[in-house]
Amino acid sequence: MPVSTISINTLRYDSELCNGCGMCTMVCPHAVFAPNGRVAQLVRPEACMECGACRVNCSTGAISVDSGVGCAAAMILAALTGKKEVSCGGDTDASCCG
Ligand code: SF4
Ligand code: SF4
Repeated sequence: MPVSTISINTLRYDSELCNGCGMCTMVCPHAVFAPNGRVAQLVRPEACMECGACRVNCSTGAISVDSGVGCAAAMILAALTGKKEVSCGGDTDASCCG
């Protein structure tokens, strides 16, 4: 089954579409992807903060992620509105908030 999914975020990865360019491994701030020979490997999907950098830099459409939700969106919204408390509205016990 080539498509990798995880229930705690919107990140989806289809290894059959990957050409192994390595861009996702370079731009991801949380080392969610790692090089693995011919294609990238999804090694820390639970660490994804849904910033969207990998999707923007993937030329083959192998990655999809909804970058309008999650931690990154919450932090940007907090910065724009001047709020000191940052909340994505999700589970505060999630590993991304550790
Ligand atoms: S950016 Fe896309 S094509 Fe390149 S290694 Fe990552 S998933 Fe594969
Ligand atoms: S959306 Fe951001 S944090 Fe998540 S895998 Fe892509 S680059 Fe990494």
